[in-house]
Amino acid sequence: MAKQSVKDLRDLGGMHVFVRVDYNVPLEDGRITDDTRIRASLPTLEYLIKGGARLALASHLGRPKKGPTPEFSLKPVAARLSELLHREVPMASDCVGDEVRRHAEGLKDGGVLLLENVRFHPEEEKNDPGFARRLVQDTVSTAFVNDAFGSAHRAHASTEGVAHHVKRAVAGFLMEKEIRYLDMAVHPKERPLVAILGGAKVSDKIEVIEALLERVDALLIGGGMAYTFFRARGYATGKSLVEEDKVSLAAELLRKGTGKIVLPADHLVASKFAEDAERKELPAQECPEGWMGLDIGPVTRRAYTERLRDAKVVVWNGPMGVFEMKPFAEGTLAVARAMADSKGVTIVGGGDSVAAVTQMGLADEIDHVSTGGGASLEFLAGQTLPGVACLQPQTRDGGRGRQDSPAS
Ligand code: ADP
Ligand code: MG
Repeated sequence: MAKQSVKDLRDLGGMHVFVRVDYNVPLEDGRITDDTRIRASLPTLEYLIKGGARLALASHLGRPKKGPTPEFSLKPVAARLSELLHREVPMASDCVGDEVRRHAEGLKDGGVLLLENVRFHPEEEKNDPGFARRLVQDTVSTAFVNDAFGSAHRAHASTEGVAHHVKRAVAGFLMEKEIRYLDMAVHPKERPLVAILGGAKVSDKIEVIEALLERVDALLIGGGMAYTFFRARGYATGKSLVEEDKVSLAAELLRKGTGKIVLPADHLVASKFAEDAERKELPAQECPEGWMGLDIGPVTRRAYTERLRDAKVVVWNGPMGVFEMKPFAEGTLAVARAMADSKGVTIVGGGDSVAAVTQMGLADEIDHVSTGGGASLEFLAGQTLPGVACLQPQTRDGGRGRQDSPAS
């Protein structure tokens, strides 16, 4: 169901808003190596600031297991965010408590406060209701804006719990865009809808395969997961990545997906798992003893490229080969290029797939590059994401109905 967004918040001036962002950025020696996630939050923040709202920003960073630890502090994010917003963004030394309250109460219209890592408190991941209430009360918030799609598959205090303690709970622009695009693959309005799935393992993606099979016109398979399907078909697989305990499941999926599932016709096999391995292009049925398949072959590259050209909607998750090694990156590159060239709506989700298109410089030519790895997979699998479910639905008058209805 469509959710209300920041656009549905009226009278922003002076409103204290708890904004959940995804600032779980990669750090190296305290330096941010990729600020994509911070930049992705700017449209929502700028909109709220312009409206005169007073913002408390919350995020997690990494997996601190021992309470507050300097290496998981959001301090580097405060510095980068200050640059991007062209204003000093003060940071609290915690996400709850008296200091937070003083800071929050002192915010002026359009003011921004960054809270410290919410995962410094174990109550965050437990979705402790008392902790969720403190997050809201100590930041004196009356509204919750969730813009952290990458964390929306987790029911944590700052992603879900807080929604129960505010008057208004809505999606940020990033969240809204994620939902709008990914929903095109779950509830297609245009066809053909083609999905391409690759990556390491079948077992990571069983739910996605099953859910997609019911909705797509074609499901193209590549990457390591293809080998479990190859084994189910009785092909030679050598030392390729086969999940023995999933072979019968793969056989069943092939039966269910007859006419929809497309397996590679050829592949690139290697004598060892290394850049300098000996290589051969072979039909999919063949793999020499002791060798392993590490990429799709040229016939498959062409066939998949052609399928993408005619699709109205394409959703892609999982690289076609071991793209981290240049000799085995051709398949992934071909799919990334075909996505960029496609006239249809193109969507990429998944940590490594997104890294691949970014690395190849093609991210800007794809309609939607999802910021949420696990979250996008769960969404595609048709699951309800707690961080989305807790937001207020659009009402029939376009979401501009009662402003004071509780979030839940
Ligand atoms: P995503 O993060 O996009 O969902 P996955 O995590 O499922 O993708 O898979 C990515 C990994 O799969 C990459 O590290 C890649 O090297 C690996 N991979 C792709 N094809 C193969 C293959 N044929 N054999 C072994 N590993 C593969
Ligand atoms: Mg991955």
